[in-house]
Amino acid sequence: MDRDYEKAIKVDSVAQEYLYVARLGCSCGGRLRPTGQALLEHKGHHYDLLKTRCQVCGNHAEFLFDINSFFGRR
Ligand SMILES: [Zn+2]
Repeated sequence: MDRDYEKAIKVDSVAQEYLYVARLGCSCGGRLRPTGQALLEHKGHHYDLLKTRCQVCGNHAEFLFDINSFFGRR
């Protein structure tokens, strides 16, 4: 599956990923609950894929985060 790595959201920590998703929420107004996380590598860069599901409408959403600023420095 092709992913748009250019549009990955830059974050400085894993906590920021969860904060981003919590703030954004679903288009229906419901809360997005993280259901899974996957570490991806693309052209030598590292990304976190966060899978979420809306607690109200059940809609699935995936977010791609650019974690290069802190990857390997934890
Ligand atoms: Zn929803």
